[in-house]
Amino acid sequence: MLPKRQNVITARDAGTRFIKDAADGWGRRELAKWLLSHYAPCAVPAGEDGPNFERARPQIVREEVIARLVREAREDALILLPELRDPMRLAAIARVMINSRFVAAVPDERGARAYAPIALPRMKLSERVASLFVADCLNDPFDYRFVYVCGACSEVSFGTSVLCCGPRRRDSEVRLRALVESIRPAASA
Ligand SMILES: [Zn+2]
Repeated sequence: MLPKRQNVITARDAGTRFIKDAADGWGRRELAKWLLSHYAPCAVPAGEDGPNFERARPQIVREEVIARLVREAREDALILLPELRDPMRLAAIARVMINSRFVAAVPDERGARAYAPIALPRMKLSERVASLFVADCLNDPFDYRFVYVCGACSEVSFGTSVLCCGPRRRDSEVRLRALVESIRPAASA
């Protein structure tokens, strides 16, 4: 079962927080804080000895290695997000994530089936971040049809409204183009 909480941190909250805040570069302290306050509340523990991310490598690796792992995980997520717009790519990515047990279907608090990110003892940071977005996308695929990361402030937007600082006109042009492309019949391509 997914944990019941008063203030639910969703996989989307955790993923978007990572994209936005880690844009400035994170060290050990920031990563540990995110793992405990955002990742742990929404990822479902699995594996023989439960999740060990809080006692894992961040304790023993050098600060610059942590900064690199964070940067790489964020870059990987920025590549992943636009892929999730495409239902065919989503299906392929979801298959890999589910087979790897990074994402699984679990009953939510009402007993309905929902996908959740799974916290395995040995996962790379980039896999943890990816599992957040893939699980969220499987639950609400339509939101990801227009997923967009603002190049100015790193806000992640879903659906059809861009709610951030950015160069709005340009954002809406990109969005409109994506919309037009998505509704154009495949036969005309
Ligand atoms: Zn912005």
